[in-house]
Amino acid sequence: MIPESVIEKVLNQIDPEGVINLTAQLVRCNSVWDPQAGTSEVEAAELAARWARDRGFDVTLETVAPERPNVIVRWTAGPGSRTLMFEGHTDVVTPGNLTRWKYDPFGAQIQKGRMYGRGTNDTKGNLAGMLVAIAALKASGIPLAGSIVGGVLCDEEGMMTGVQHFIARGHADAVTAAVVCEPQDGLVCIAQKGAVRARFAVRGRMSHGAMPLSGLNPAPAVARIIDGLADLEAEAVHTYGKDPLLGWPSFTPTVVQAPSQGPPQLNVVPGEAEILVDVRTLPGQNHDTIRNSLSALVQQTVREVNARYRKTDRLLGIRRPWELDVTVRFLSDRPCTHTDRDDPVIASAVWASRQVSGKEPEFAGVPGATDGTFLWALKDIPIVTMGAGDRQVPHQVDEWVDLDQLVDTARIYALTALHYLYPGDHP
Ligand SMILES: [Zn+2]
Repeated sequence: MIPESVIEKVLNQIDPEGVINLTAQLVRCNSVWDPQAGTSEVEAAELAARWARDRGFDVTLETVAPERPNVIVRWTAGPGSRTLMFEGHTDVVTPGNLTRWKYDPFGAQIQKGRMYGRGTNDTKGNLAGMLVAIAALKASGIPLAGSIVGGVLCDEEGMMTGVQHFIARGHADAVTAAVVCEPQDGLVCIAQKGAVRARFAVRGRMSHGAMPLSGLNPAPAVARIIDGLADLEAEAVHTYGKDPLLGWPSFTPTVVQAPSQGPPQLNVVPGEAEILVDVRTLPGQNHDTIRNSLSALVQQTVREVNARYRKTDRLLGIRRPWELDVTVRFLSDRPCTHTDRDDPVIASAVWASRQVSGKEPEFAGVPGATDGTFLWALKDIPIVTMGAGDRQVPHQVDEWVDLDQLVDTARIYALTALHYLYPGDHP
């Protein structure tokens, strides 16, 4: 039992204006990774580093790639074997078409209790929340057992090189649990879907649209692959069903392009086509099996489509000397994550949410991958994903965050760490 007075002491250190101001400052740093426009995570990272250094933290900046720094914030709260990591990313996705925005994407304007701007929701608000939370805990002076690491990381929205660099440098070695600070609308997320991404390339032969027999159209293969993906999805849905936290598995063709490169033209049979596939998986689905079935789909497509072309040729009394070719290349593979409900970090998150909101928090799953995926997969670190912000709002125009929820999130983060590191019966 943590005495009421201790809880109050921590909460008193959280100044709502402090959370809001730091969020606004971070949002005003345009941290879209865009080397041509000259924007990167540098400014936001340096701001976070300065802020933490001013509050007495041990802060290091590490270059993951040119103009792409990670910031590592360290604090040994007291002797103990537990190290709690808070993770938040500094990069944001592009605002897209600026004329679609009612608000300045980098203005951090506040209206009716909401702050608007790119990253307010995903995830600069939560990044500010985690920094304020650990600073509040430190300032409270309450004796704790263990350490805190803040990972203020780059490139979450891209290839997640920030977290991989953080792990490769050994920063995750001592971490015993992590809070991944992402917009989950106050839900306590204990599971994440996995992902397998693949690119199918179909090679036919280019020709005039009026003389298709002088070429080999990749379109039937594209159709066959899309059909095959639907079959694989139906099979996965049938076998694995609906996960109570994560929903259904899916095999989604997201990009279908012919020609693969260059402008399409109505009277030209394209020589090549490509399909990008985003497979999202549930715990229990084996990724090797999925890769094998995608490779099998390639073989099947080649066999069937070429057989059909030969049949057409026979019918017409011609013989095209070419074969259609299909290949698949795997672009990325991220496993599902699942942290037990009785893991200490989940117990801490649930307790903290209950303290702040006054009600039992809801468990949920994260539909997308986050930096937490790598902490879980490469280092076996139990993770909980939580934070302020509507779950549908990330990456949209006029992105926003509710400021009351954001301040409560900083409180929840602080109490999660208090509970996790509170001296008691844990080793
Ligand atoms: Zn995010």
